[in-house]
Amino acid sequence: MRTSQQLKSDLLNINHKSYPAYKSLAGSYGFGDYVLSIDHVQGDPFASPSKVHLEINGKTAGFPAHLYDTAPKRIALQDYLARRFGQELRRISKKAGGSGKSGVIYSSQCCQEILERSCCEIRPLDGQLLFRLEIGFPANGRSINSPELIKILFDLLPGCVDKSLLFRRLPKQELLDVEALCEDQQFIREELKRLHLAAFVANGAILPRMSGVSHLPLKQAVPFKSPNSLEVTLTLPHHGPITGMGIPEGITLIVGGGFHGKSTLLNALEMGVYDHIAGDGREYVITEASAFKLRAEDSRYINNTDISLFINDLPGRRDTKAFSTQDASGSTSQAANVVESMESGSRLFLIDEDTSATNFMIRDQLMQSVISDKEEPITPFISRVRELYGTSGISSVIVAGSSGAYFHVADTIIQMKDYKPYDITQKAKAAAADFPELHTEGLIYNTPSFNRCPKAGGGLTGFDRVKMKVMGKDSIQINKTTIDLRYLEQLADTEQLSALAYLVTCGAKHYFRSGRTLTDVVDLLEQQIEKKGLASLADSSYLPSNLARPRRQEIFACLNRCRDLSF
Ligand code: ADP
Ligand code: MG
Repeated sequence: MRTSQQLKSDLLNINHKSYPAYKSLAGSYGFGDYVLSIDHVQGDPFASPSKVHLEINGKTAGFPAHLYDTAPKRIALQDYLARRFGQELRRISKKAGGSGKSGVIYSSQCCQEILERSCCEIRPLDGQLLFRLEIGFPANGRSINSPELIKILFDLLPGCVDKSLLFRRLPKQELLDVEALCEDQQFIREELKRLHLAAFVANGAILPRMSGVSHLPLKQAVPFKSPNSLEVTLTLPHHGPITGMGIPEGITLIVGGGFHGKSTLLNALEMGVYDHIAGDGREYVITEASAFKLRAEDSRYINNTDISLFINDLPGRRDTKAFSTQDASGSTSQAANVVESMESGSRLFLIDEDTSATNFMIRDQLMQSVISDKEEPITPFISRVRELYGTSGISSVIVAGSSGAYFHVADTIIQMKDYKPYDITQKAKAAAADFPELHTEGLIYNTPSFNRCPKAGGGLTGFDRVKMKVMGKDSIQINKTTIDLRYLEQLADTEQLSALAYLVTCGAKHYFRSGRTLTDVVDLLEQQIEKKGLASLADSSYLPSNLARPRRQEIFACLNRCRDLSF
């Protein structure tokens, strides 16, 4: 390792030289409290900024072990530091100037959810802190401007580190609050299992968001208040007693008039698979972590998925035990989504009629009498939902404002009225008794087989250099293969899509071999993340700073939507 003084004199030596001379700086330099490593230097001032990381040894960083001695607490602390350091970095971005991306400083912009990210890592063993960021090395035109880089590295950056990465300089109470909230959230997750609940929504929670583009809490929202009959009180280790609505395992319906808050409640449950930061309003909205939002997804790719639970006898005798299509219909896509999320180990389905295929959800009496069961390939979800719970142990929460037929199969029925939930189970069941149940005769429930093995096509493997691109939260592109992810509504951050792109390429390079099932492959990928960290998914000489860990469910979903994979 070299000293910071050597770096400074090297920098002064290359001032005014042509931009590629910056490349000679790659290496590590001691800066007192931390080591700065220049991992990759951009090719020119307009290219994506240079990759840099900082390492602070555990003793200097000084965080007491109790703040990171479990994975959730470590992730919560990393998240806190990423937010705080990120805020400082954004303050100094562009303080040093020049052409192109000179002086820009990029670090993760964290969302409302607490995610594991490659920008900040704490080593569990000894508390060593690592932070990755990107800096646009300054230039005038295409010649090096080293005084400006000296300003960043020797003046601005040390100030940020000092303010936000050292325990002794941070507000202790805030750190203890992060730890306490995390322990409380994990406690609720454990309680869900013990009490056989699918989700918990605390009284006082703020569910609606500011707008379609802002995930901040809506101001002046009606706070959540559980109906008495569904109320449970949990005694959290830090917060103490907290009361809210416990949604029991089984089948739960959310009904009510339009605009009364049904989808808002369901959306909160969708994101309750993640923990939220203090002040979000959903800190104590906790959902079974494997919950999956099931929706129709016209035109998605399906390969070799057993959708025979829902679809049989298609025209042309297409095999629905191993169904493939480049262009799925609403109902076949939703059927595949159910089966594939079973494969990923989901124990809770979340369904909104707003985004479902009607013919997948229900077939009414009159239609049954005109079009006989024999002529209809679709066994609607309503005919399977009880067995999904009884046989496969998968609960469902369904927003169904327009199909009363679900009253017969539901265990719990919640009406949303003026943004408040009411338990109308008994009333609705009594009303339903006067209406005949849909008959579903002679249906056999065969648990789908999950021994599909992914094989990568030429688009993923036939290239020397892999090119990846992330289009917001909509899709990723790997070489020429585009994977459409826009309907995976539980992806919280574009950085999760970046990580998915790396997961697919890493899988193609190392794990997609014959004989390994999709489940084996996802297990191996997840084990690699656990053992070597998220950034290890990259094969490059430098590790990316912009990855956030996706859930197992989204890894499965992404691989299933990759048109260059067959099973
Ligand atoms: P539904 O699905 O029942 O038609 P939504 O959940 O889409 O209704 O909610 C309709 C509107 O009401 C949305 O704009 C949402 O932001 C707002 N809203 C939802 N819950 C609340 C609440 N608790 N307080 C204030 N506004 C809310
Ligand atoms: Mg709605």
